[in-house]
Amino acid sequence: AQPEEVDLNEVVERSVRWVTQSSSDKFAVDCDLPDKLHCRGSSGQLQQVVMNLVQNACDATAGRRDARLSITGRQQGGEIVLRFADNGPGIPEANLAHLFEPFFTTKPVGQGTGLGLSISYGIVERHGGRLIAANLPDGGAEFILTLPVEGK
Ligand code: ADP
Ligand code: MG
Repeated sequence: AQPEEVDLNEVVERSVRWVTQSSSDKFAVDCDLPDKLHCRGSSGQLQQVVMNLVQNACDATAGRRDARLSITGRQQGGEIVLRFADNGPGIPEANLAHLFEPFFTTKPVGQGTGLGLSISYGIVERHGGRLIAANLPDGGAEFILTLPVEGK
């Protein structure tokens, strides 16, 4: 197991605060996490992952009056599962296979590097977890982050 105990409630809270404070658009985030959600690894790196997921959801829903991100977490057995579901336009089928490639972005020049998900994928992999993207049945994108409680 990796040395640091990571408080995922804190990681999520901090990421949401950072993104919502720097966003000029209306963006509602609701979190439903158990009181204690801890894993082992690097808080700083996991913060980078979660912050990028929240920022991506904020970007995807920009301009919507009911822009929304729902973050849910649970622990089942030795695994923690965090879900990030937004009500943006979702991800075109053709892009799903490329999201995690370095420099893949659909954002205007200067607004996205296309590195967020690729870096995140590597971080999650090194933690022994998984990061998956999908579309929700009623539109919107969902990212599922799975982490082993004991770390790698
Ligand atoms: P960047 O944010 O710099 O574009 P990322 O690696 O974080 O780079 O994301 C890559 C691309 O994945 C985005 O440009 C966008 O096309 C797509 N994407 C990521 N998150 C979402 C989301 N929540 N809804 C729709 N598309 C998304
Ligand atoms: Mg990004």
